[in-house]
Amino acid sequence: MKKAVFALKKLVEHRKGLILAFRDKNQPWHKGNPDLPSEMAEGLAQFLSDEVKSLEKIIQSLEGKTDTKCRHPKKYLDKCDDVWYCMNCNEDLPLKD
Ligand SMILES: [Zn+2]
Repeated sequence: MKKAVFALKKLVEHRKGLILAFRDKNQPWHKGNPDLPSEMAEGLAQFLSDEVKSLEKIIQSLEGKTDTKCRHPKKYLDKCDDVWYCMNCNEDLPLKD
């Protein structure tokens, strides 16, 4: 089970890298590349971030960490002393890097 969680985390990491790349304004797709227009890159980034959300839920349930009440979006999350917490409801979240 630990191996599965590890593999999923690697996958999430990889997806997050792709999302950043698709949203990087310095990449060719945001500079009028006809093969991959800006809107398509953004669409892919959105698709991947939805996928990351599902994967993270799976990871959390595999790790038995579904007891948090916080359901706020990731943009509200911040890290303090290596512990993730939600800036909206202030709940500490059992997330790993
Ligand atoms: Zn929250």
